[in-house]
Amino acid sequence: MTETQFTPRVFSGIQPSGGLTLGNYLGAMKRFVDMQGADFETIYCMVDLHAITTWQDPAALSHNTRELCAGFIAAGIDPEQSILFNQSQVPEHAQLGWIFNCVARMGWMQRMTQWKDKAGKNQQNASLGLFAYPSLMAADILIYHATHVPVGEDQKQHLELTRDIAIKFNNDFGVDFFPVTEPVIEGAATRVMSLRDGSKKMSKSDPSDMSRINLTDDADAIAKKIRKAKTDPDALPSDVDGLEDRPEARNLVNIYAALNDQSVEQVLAEVGGKQFGDFKPMLADLAVAKLAPISTEMSRLMADQAEIDRILARGAERAREIAAPILQKTYEIVGMVGSGTR
Ligand code: ATP
Ligand code: MG
Repeated sequence: MTETQFTPRVFSGIQPSGGLTLGNYLGAMKRFVDMQGADFETIYCMVDLHAITTWQDPAALSHNTRELCAGFIAAGIDPEQSILFNQSQVPEHAQLGWIFNCVARMGWMQRMTQWKDKAGKNQQNASLGLFAYPSLMAADILIYHATHVPVGEDQKQHLELTRDIAIKFNNDFGVDFFPVTEPVIEGAATRVMSLRDGSKKMSKSDPSDMSRINLTDDADAIAKKIRKAKTDPDALPSDVDGLEDRPEARNLVNIYAALNDQSVEQVLAEVGGKQFGDFKPMLADLAVAKLAPISTEMSRLMADQAEIDRILARGAERAREIAAPILQKTYEIVGMVGSGTR
């Protein structure tokens, strides 16, 4: 079998399951913007089919999808240069997802920590969709033959599963059809932690609003949340080793570094020795300076809903041009009769 050369192509998605958090911005969106450019074709998706794996109020889902689209653009995604759309409008995701449900093994899925975290003690009452989520995520990526997937650290296990699914499909059918995707988990803030609990990641679905910074928070809310963020009583260290066993301190320093495009070492060289009482206002000012222009632009874009819908429709059309032939070829490989892709 010859090694297929795949076009360098980036795919990633964010769920319209609520507002955008600082974690989503630093771990995902800011890096989506960085990858936009000459080296890659970039495809970014509002994954509404993933969002409904937990209950979403219909009106809120529509609002959140449009707001997320506005967030992508406000953060710097150019809808001409990148392909920007919502997942449900490209049916090939769900169609390939079904094929992958028949490739992935129960044992693989049961090991997924996101499933265990989100289903909690009540697995019997979780949706079947929540369990199958990572298999649909593999389809999201592989329906474009994407080679690079920028995500936060929490998605690493799902990307390993995506690789396992691609390898098993290729082996089962004796083809070299799906690429073995590279995770791109980089930067100072690949895992932004909750402001209330340094052992939990910041999430848009966390019940406590004080646990996260939302992109739509105003300057007062940001300052208050950072002021109240859990910390320890010690001063900041001057080197990275000094952050060991200090998860809350590490988190705030990581956030500062990522927002300011600095390394953690550079930040500590500047702020080492400071008390949190001095560092927190610096962090709040920096966060406001970086986030306020994004949220202002988001509200401006949200005023023209028809334009957002037009952008999403155009994005879906462009996405389908890539996805439809890949689904068709998959069906042929599997042995399904017919030439349609729906
Ligand atoms: P939910 O709680 O509904 O799962 P979420 O905040 O985890 O929401 P997702 O839509 O699941 O957001 O993830 C979108 C992207 O943001 C993914 O690439 C994910 O890895 C990244 N991400 C999510 N939370 C963080 C975080 N705390 N730090 C860094 N990256 C994150
Ligand atoms: Mg998540």
